[in-house]
Amino acid sequence: MQMPITFYYQNTHTSAYELLLHAIQQSACHALTQYYDAFTIDVYALLDKPRSKIVAIDWDNTITADLVFYRQLIDTYQQYGWTPIICTLRSPSLDNLTEIRHALERHDISIYATDGYAKQAFLKRHKIDVHLWLDDYFPAICKEGCALLRQNGITYNNPH
Ligand SMILES: [Mg+2]
Repeated sequence: MQMPITFYYQNTHTSAYELLLHAIQQSACHALTQYYDAFTIDVYALLDKPRSKIVAIDWDNTITADLVFYRQLIDTYQQYGWTPIICTLRSPSLDNLTEIRHALERHDISIYATDGYAKQAFLKRHKIDVHLWLDDYFPAICKEGCALLRQNGITYNNPH
């Protein structure tokens, strides 16, 4: 049985968000919350650059948590003019890339393997701005207290 995934989103309702919300509603399994509570959230949907058309999706414990759901979501994003990409902390070894490529073989999608480097800075070096991040582990994207996390209501370093 598919384990339910709780997504977090707390920002402007862009069309990339609306497509995600629709997919969650269609799933009849997954849920969305706007309350930041690390104990109940499985995947963070974080709005970054509003004008970008890129949706960067993590691999481990994000897509792998429901491959069928994300295949459909990737299809939907592509149909509506978005450019989904895979961005993983994994090293860009042939084995790693082959595994991901194989699972998504029906999809024409770019894979960025940062080899442990923070994803936002890594993609910026490739001149890629991201509209929406989907990731189970937000510290992979940028470090504590960074603007992206603050803009998305994540203030986990707040001493209060
Ligand atoms: Mg992950």
